[in-house]
Formats: sequence, structure tokens, C-alpha cells
Amino acid sequence: MNNPGMKCTRCRGPANHRFPQHNVRFCDACLEVFIQRQVEKAIKKFNMLAPGQKVVAAISGGKDSLALWQLLIDLGYDALGLHLTLDLGPFSQKSLEASQAMAQRLGRELVVKSLPQLTGQNLEDIVRANRREFCSVCGTLKRHFLNKLCLELGADTLATGHHLDDEAGRLLGNLVRGHQEYLDQQWPVLEGLKSDEGTGLARKVKPLCRLAGSEIKSYAKSKDLPAAYGKCPRSKGATLPFYQEAVDILEERMPGTKRELYLGFLRRKGGPPPPPRPGGACERCGAPTYLDLCAACRLLLRAEEWVQEKKAPAGPGADQGAAKGHEI
Ligand code: AMP
Ligand code: ZN
Repeated sequence: MNNPGMKCTRCRGPANHRFPQHNVRFCDACLEVFIQRQVEKAIKKFNMLAPGQKVVAAISGGKDSLALWQLLIDLGYDALGLHLTLDLGPFSQKSLEASQAMAQRLGRELVVKSLPQLTGQNLEDIVRANRREFCSVCGTLKRHFLNKLCLELGADTLATGHHLDDEAGRLLGNLVRGHQEYLDQQWPVLEGLKSDEGTGLARKVKPLCRLAGSEIKSYAKSKDLPAAYGKCPRSKGATLPFYQEAVDILEERMPGTKRELYLGFLRRKGGPPPPPRPGGACERCGAPTYLDLCAACRLLLRAEEWVQEKKAPAGPGADQGAAKGHEI
């Protein structure tokens, strides 16, 4: 894609990155300035963080979250890393090692917790018991524990590495499926909710929301971030990548479509959704919920019941039936 002899739009030196969506070309140094400015702009426009604020960065080990961590530190935020291990074999191990390498490189603390240990159950059992797609179960549990741990770490804000491709793909999916309540909630900052019991909702912020995946990839490569590349072995059932591909086709033909789709949607929407209303607390874990149990505890309770049902010896009726069957 890059032409030899291409000149940087900012400094006129040799350029090695080209972004048709902005009609610009950059050298490594000017790319970094561009990326930082996009993140600063998102933080300021959407009122994500106060200068120097303590924030927990959710670190998966992929290029997006490592870039997020680097950028938050470079922009002066007190960003602590939090990584959840999923224990799904070599991919999980590579993701953990990448997160640890980044923590070492930044000289910052990385808190590591195991999702199966936090849930007390095997992820595959939880998926089977609930008859849901792996990604949807894993996503609900990750959100629940990232939120809980963020508050326990004494921060009220959790930053994730979601970027323009994630948000534009999700927007298209929500539009196609007519998920009005998700459309109402789609905004790069979601306000938190404090509760007296110390549980609650952390604020959720997405400082990379103005950056395309390809821009972050170029940045991660040029900064030589120790990211784990590759896909989660259990991501097969996810539909988001199809919507992202569809947006990419439009982007390829009409550069700028991706930004216009998402940023235009935000512009037309005009402002954030109303903050969450205080409701009840989950009977099991105390997390805010409008139901008796929060979404994560509903999954976990169903899995516990399922495991018990599997372990339980067949009841007396079943025994008689079996014996009868034997006699005949
Ligand atoms: P994904 O849904 O895998 O694209 O992840 C979106 C964002 O969620 C990442 O950029 C991270 O900020 C966060 N995240 C995903 N998986 C993990 C994990 N295992 N541990 C911590 N944060 C995660
Ligand atoms: Zn709960």
C-alpha cells in the first residue's frame, strides 16, 4: 500500500504509514503525535478522565489494550493494568505474557486474576449449562469481574481498548437487529453508580474510540509493543467480526465511512445516555441490578445447578424404571 518516496504530511520527511480515511501519510514520529492527539481529543470531548486521574486499564494482551495503556501513561494518567486470564491454553498464556511484558516495559503494576478462579467454575461448564455462545458468556463474566476488581482496586473508572472498528461494527449490528436499548446505551463513556455496600458500577471509558484498528496496528508496530497477535480459540460464534467486515468493505470503497457511521451517530445523538438509576442489589454478590440476581450470578447459579444435576444419582423413580426395563 505504501509508495516508496512517500512524504509525511506533517514533517515532509520519508513516510511509512498511509491513512486514506484522513488523506494523510506519516512517519513513525508524526504517527505517534497523531494517535496521541486523537486520544486526547476523545478524552476531552467526551469528558472521560480528569488530568492525572487514577484509572484501571483492562489489559487483554492484544495490540489495542497495550496501545491504550501506553497512551494513558504517555498522556499523564495514573493507569494500573488489570488482566483476566481465561486458561484456554496457549492463546491465554501468550496473552498473559504480553500483558506482563508491557507492565515491565512501562514499569507499572499489572494485577492478574484468573476468571475460572473468580467464578469458581469451569468456563466450558458455564457455557454448556446456559446454552449460550461462548463469547457472550465470557463477555458477561469479564465485564462483571473487571468492574468489581476495578472498584476493589480503589479506582472509579475502567478504560478498555475498544476502538472505532469495534464501535462501528457494534452500531451496525444493533441497527440491523433493531436493538434499541443497546443503541440508547452506545456512547464512549458510561457513568458509574456508587452503592453503600462498596459494590457498584465503575465508569467505563473508551479512549481509543476515534481510532481505527488499522491505525492502532500501525502505532503498535512502530512502537514495537509486545502484543499477542492471533484470535481467541473460542471466538467462532461471535457475530461482531461479520459486521466489522461489512463496515470495512464500505470503508475500502468510500474511505471515511467508518468514522462517519460511528462519530456521525454520536453527533446526531447529541449526548450520553442518562446515568444508571439506582436499583436493587444482587442477592448473591451485591452488584447493582434491577432483578434479584445480576447477569453474571444468573449464569453462575445455572451452572452450579447443572453441575449438581449431572452429579446427582438418578432418583428413586428413575431407578425403578431402570430396574423394570431390566426385567423385561
Ligand atoms: P475484546 O472484546 O476482546 O475485543 O476486548 C475489548 C477490550 O476489553 C480490550 O481492549 C480490553 O481492554 C478488554 N479485555 C478483553 N479481554 C480482557 C482480559 N482477558 N483481561 C482484561 N481486559 C480484557
Ligand atoms: Zn451477582
